[in-house]
Amino acid sequence: MADYVIAPPLQAAIPVAGGGLFPVRRIYCVGRNYAEHAREMGHDPDAEPPFFFGKPADAVVVDGADVPYPTKTENFHHEIELVAAIGIGGKDIAVADAFNHVWGYAVGIDLTRRDLQAWAKKAAKPWEVAKGFDHSAPIGTMVRAETVATPLSGAIELRVNGETRQSADISDMIWDLPHVIAELSKYFELYPGDLIMTGTPAGVGAVVKGDRLEGAIAGIGTVEARIA
Ligand code: MN
Repeated sequence: MADYVIAPPLQAAIPVAGGGLFPVRRIYCVGRNYAEHAREMGHDPDAEPPFFFGKPADAVVVDGADVPYPTKTENFHHEIELVAAIGIGGKDIAVADAFNHVWGYAVGIDLTRRDLQAWAKKAAKPWEVAKGFDHSAPIGTMVRAETVATPLSGAIELRVNGETRQSADISDMIWDLPHVIAELSKYFELYPGDLIMTGTPAGVGAVVKGDRLEGAIAGIGTVEARIA
């Protein structure tokens, strides 16, 4: 028994299809990885490559659970994303080797306080309050990588109260998943338990209390959340 002076925090984890829990170590996120989304946010995807930011592991919300409408925002946005889960760590991972490091996949929503993000960009301040707040990462049931086709293409969509808001294909990513893993592993040594949220296509928008979000990626799965 470790000699912790307070109870250790609970381990964030994501249910896996067929049973078991995937423990979450870190959540890495890619910014502006779809050209149309970069443009809708007022940026030129040809001039600026995608980049990384993060969320804390305990921002995870399991599939179907309520997301409390966060404080300090009046423009709370959805971003549907493919999530890759690392099973074998590494640094300076080669593009050709990247899929060998992936344990599984899920569908996630990068919830964003868009007004605070706009303020942070303008004020040259960090993004944590816009991206890394509590309950900001609903993630659906994870599927094992060996049970699905490698996700280099496939429809990705998000509906709010049944109405389609985001609809694209993951082949539209600027950095496909192997390039995301290779690039990220130049900055951080990846470890088992790390999640990578790979960026969102165009069509992001606001949600309010009572809204029901349903996301899906063909061949991977779904995610559901309700704003409470
Ligand atoms: Mn995002």
